[in-house]
Amino acid sequence: MIVDDLLAPCPAGAGRYAPSPSGDLHLGNLRTAILAWVLARRTARAFHLRVEDLDRVREGAAERQLEDLAAIGLDWDGEVTWQSQRAAAHEQAIQTLREEGQVYECYCTRREILEAPSAPHAPPGAYPGTCRQLTDAQREAGRAKMRELRREPALRLRASVESWRVQDLWAGNVDGAVDDLVLRRGDGVVAYNLAVVVDDAAAGVDQVVRADDLLSSAPRQAHLAHLLGYKQPHYAHVPLAVNTDGARLAKRDGAVTLRDRLDLGESADDVVERIGSSLGVPGCRTARDLLEQWEPAALVRDPWVVDLAR
Ligand code: GLU
Repeated sequence: MIVDDLLAPCPAGAGRYAPSPSGDLHLGNLRTAILAWVLARRTARAFHLRVEDLDRVREGAAERQLEDLAAIGLDWDGEVTWQSQRAAAHEQAIQTLREEGQVYECYCTRREILEAPSAPHAPPGAYPGTCRQLTDAQREAGRAKMRELRREPALRLRASVESWRVQDLWAGNVDGAVDDLVLRRGDGVVAYNLAVVVDDAAAGVDQVVRADDLLSSAPRQAHLAHLLGYKQPHYAHVPLAVNTDGARLAKRDGAVTLRDRLDLGESADDVVERIGSSLGVPGCRTARDLLEQWEPAALVRDPWVVDLAR
C-alpha cells in the first residue's frame, strides 16, 4: 500500500536527513539518506541536513558524515543545523508546555521505573505515572532525593491522550501510544522526541523520512507537534538494513561504510549502485539516476539484507 497524497508536490515544504554523529554512516544509513533526498526532490521540497549532536557524539564524525553524503551525490539547501546550538528553542518549547500545565517533574530513577507495576492497558515500557499526581510534600522529598543524586528532576509531558494517528507513505495510518514521555532528561539534556519536533518545525520540515525503527515514535512526536501548534509532518519510514543473520547492520559486520568500500577499491558510484539494486532499480550509478528512476510504490518493506559477499 502507498499513500499517494504524500507524494504530491509541495514547493513550500521541506524534507531532511538528521543523522546522529556517533560514527560513520553505514550502507543502511546511506540508503535512508538517499531516499530522504529523493522524496524531497521528487515532491519539489527543499532538503535540509541536521546533525543531531545532543549526545552520543564522536569527535569528527559529523564532518565525515557530511563528506560521505556529498560523495554519494546528495546536496542540501542552506546551512547545516547543529541540534546542540538550538537549546534556546528547545527550552522555549518546554516553557510553552509548562505554562499550559502540560509538564511535570519526575524524580524516578531508571530502576524505579523498571520495577514499578505498569498501569493497566499501558504499552510495554510506558512510564507508570508515579510522579504525575504528587502532593507538595512528595515533590519536596523528590527534589531532595534529586539533590542527593546530583541530578535534575526529569521533565515529563502530562499526556492528555493515549494514542495518536500519523500517516506514513508506506505504512498508511499508524495509531501509536502516547505516554508521559520525557521532555528533558535528568542530566539536563533535552529529549530527542522534543528536539526533533521543535527543529523540524523551525526548519519548515513537513516530510520526515528516516529508518523505520522510529515509526513507533512518530505518533508521540506528532502529538507533541500538535500541542506546540505545529503542522503534523508526513512520514515515510524506510526499512532497516540487516546483516545476513537478520541483526541490525553494524560496524562489526565488516566493510559497511562508504570509506570501507572505497578502501576495497569500490567507487561512490558502485555504492550507490548497490543501494539502487536493493531498491529494485539496478544500474543506477548516481543519486540523480535514482531520483529519476526509483518508484516509491515499489519499495519492499522487509529489512534490506546486506550481503557483503555479493
Ligand atoms: N538522529 C536519528 C538517528 O540518527 C534520526 C532522527 C530522525 O530522523 O528523526 O537515528
